[in-house]
Amino acid sequence: MTSTLNIFSRRTAAATAQTLPIPGTVPNTAGGHAFALDDWARLDRFLVLGSDGGSYYAGERPLTRDNAQAVLRAIGMDGTRAVARIVAVSEAGRAPKNDPALFALALAASADDLATRRAALAAVPRVARTGTHLFQFAEFVQASRGWGRALRRAVGAWYLEQSIDRLAYQVVKYRQRGGWSHRDLLRLAHPETAEPGRAALLDWVCRGTESEALPVLVRSASSLSRASSGAEAAALIRAHDLPREAVPTALLNEAAVWEALLERMPLTALVRSLAKLTAVGVVKPLGEWLPLALSALGDVDRIAKARLHPLAILLALRTYAQGRGDRGALQWEPVQAVIDTLNAAFYTVFRAVEPTGQRLLLALDVSGSMASGRVAGSSLTPREASAAMALMTAATESSTHIVGFGATMVPLPLSPSMRLDQAVQAVSDLPFAATDCAQPMLYALDRGLSIDAFVVYTDNETWAGAVHPVQALRQYRERTGIAAKLVVVGLVSNGFSIADPADAGMLDVVGFDTAAPAVIADFIRR
Ligand code: CA
Repeated sequence: MTSTLNIFSRRTAAATAQTLPIPGTVPNTAGGHAFALDDWARLDRFLVLGSDGGSYYAGERPLTRDNAQAVLRAIGMDGTRAVARIVAVSEAGRAPKNDPALFALALAASADDLATRRAALAAVPRVARTGTHLFQFAEFVQASRGWGRALRRAVGAWYLEQSIDRLAYQVVKYRQRGGWSHRDLLRLAHPETAEPGRAALLDWVCRGTESEALPVLVRSASSLSRASSGAEAAALIRAHDLPREAVPTALLNEAAVWEALLERMPLTALVRSLAKLTAVGVVKPLGEWLPLALSALGDVDRIAKARLHPLAILLALRTYAQGRGDRGALQWEPVQAVIDTLNAAFYTVFRAVEPTGQRLLLALDVSGSMASGRVAGSSLTPREASAAMALMTAATESSTHIVGFGATMVPLPLSPSMRLDQAVQAVSDLPFAATDCAQPMLYALDRGLSIDAFVVYTDNETWAGAVHPVQALRQYRERTGIAAKLVVVGLVSNGFSIADPADAGMLDVVGFDTAAPAVIADFIRR
């Protein structure tokens, strides 16, 4: 009852043009006004969406600088809370990419406050889980602080505290990235160990010394690097569980090699290798290796354990269905069963989300700005990503209606029965328009639709309307008597939201956060 009272207590009969402010709003980048996101919410948006590729209104660098300042403010307010947040988002696999978490952790590791720096450095192994992550962290942290003792010790601990077998796999699989190698980091950190196997491994990394104490994986990887036939390589891969990175380039077109790799391939590698597996003929219609690939892609537990993100699945589906790579000359004949399994796998990530049973209007901002910039460094525009997010909710819920809007309503040929990559293409091809985020509420009023919750997918750069979105929502509530809620799914990492943080019936979530669908459903049910 309290929340219903709250919803109706802020009565606003007013209609204010979006070019003018209303209480609580700030100017957005588009010449309109929106509510300012607090720095904790901005931290979440940045951790999930990143700032790669910029947006329609800001280039990549200004957007990154802007986000870095917001992250620094959160760190300044409560450093250990910020570090805990970074760790939580990263460990749960909520973001499509781990880079923003590594970037934010590097900022925390460079804070003035000693407790914050300690918490950040202690969290390095939890956020930098692979060799590549560690290289990225090194690159970020070097930009904001020096290589003092505490930082060297934290990097050294990464090499000392994981098991020797796991470390051997990390140094075989991830050799270098962005100008950093394990040798560079070991020369800085100088970790000391009394374990013969570990000492031999570190010695091999730094000096290439091959000794008897070296883990078998490293010795067999070195044999694999000299293998001269596909059969020889396949036997080594099978005997020692070697990853693709250890295979000499000359043998990477051999079907026998890919069969051996497929048998033990981590799920994220499988998703990235489907095209190659098809091109070399290992994955083919009715082929003997196809069931192995399909069952892995359909395994809910493996998807969760691998932190396979739905955006990665969607991108793999889109590329795979095209039959040719975005870069390079690789071409393949897509296998329909793989396409269907990828399409279904996207939804498995959210299988645990319980439907609300409420009447939901899923409204996609299809204005021009939503077709610029990229989500989380991917090839998807915010507009394309929003279509996939909306279909996810439409597939879970029983009563939904999907609409598009710019400055007016736009018919949207979108349904959960469509394949994801085709749905994404459908919104991608729409013409550009101006932005009025009040349109979904005005549309529902005009058509007499009964809506329990408006879910609006947008960059919050609204400006073209004669009434602010929250005013339109309050009009809707007053005229219909329905305590309708508003959920804003933010698709660009900026500091704005059309949701009023002071209104208990409005919520701002981050698009493509794997936790978002459950948060949205809980909020709507409440
Ligand atoms: Ca826009």
